[in-house]
Amino acid sequence: SVAAARGVRLVEEPAIAGAPKRPLIQLDNLSKRYGGHTVLDSIDLEVMSGEVVAIIGPSGSGKSTLLRCINYLEPPDGGFVTIGDITLSAAMPASSTELARLRRSVGMVFQSFNLFPHMTVLRNISLAQERVLGRSRKEAEERSMQLLKRVGLGDKAGQYPARCSGGQQQRVAIARSLALDPQVMLFDEPTSALDPELGLEVLAVMRELAETGMTMIVVTHEMSFAENVSDTVMIMADGRIVEKGPSTEVMRNPQHERTKRFLRAVH
Ligand code: ADP
Ligand code: MG
Repeated sequence: SVAAARGVRLVEEPAIAGAPKRPLIQLDNLSKRYGGHTVLDSIDLEVMSGEVVAIIGPSGSGKSTLLRCINYLEPPDGGFVTIGDITLSAAMPASSTELARLRRSVGMVFQSFNLFPHMTVLRNISLAQERVLGRSRKEAEERSMQLLKRVGLGDKAGQYPARCSGGQQQRVAIARSLALDPQVMLFDEPTSALDPELGLEVLAVMRELAETGMTMIVVTHEMSFAENVSDTVMIMADGRIVEKGPSTEVMRNPQHERTKRFLRAVH
């Protein structure tokens, strides 16, 4: 080639470019029962690094239970949960070290923000960094300020939660989760408790997070988020995955009757 003839060394493609994307989250045969009631029925799921999955489905279909099993807030009754290089099997008791590692790699944001009311916004975000990651107060507060700016709340550091709107509190809760450097973020109906307008500012933060490559599973009723931000949409009913696929396909051209019914009802 011309380049070689001139003695120019071509820059090699970085190895990562050709590497297959690996699943960061893998669920195999995951099951959960409450009493005699099967709430999760042999769920298999792979979520690639950087993928955003929206879970939608009727109330009681097992969406929250699925998220809680992924980070072992609820121990599953059967199957395997893999996050990165950690695999936990329901058949074997997890060691406290493994549990701590798994939980640390998974950030979770709930419908209710659960901020500590007696602490400033800054302390709310810093505390776990000091306790869990052993960061110094100065390091933790620097990281907290970075994240507060990222969620558009750089001016709220000294405020108490009660003085913040619901949308601002939820953005603080997102910053608090991100402060522990999770590999994965799970969101359980993060905007359901908010007025639509305040929900939008939270969704904007989530969209930004998605665009920066965070791996996310989001249980939501926000159909525009499911269609426009997530890569994949998954419909749950009765503890099973009814349908799953690229978001625009599932939202615009659902294949299963159960999905069609659900989408008609929410639109
Ligand atoms: P979703 O989030 O889709 O509304 P959930 O995961 O909260 O559904 O609940 C799925 C089913 O499991 C429901 O029938 C619910 O009543 C039941 N369930 C959830 N948590 C518990 C629990 N801690 N004890 C007993 N039953 C539960
Ligand atoms: Mg729920």
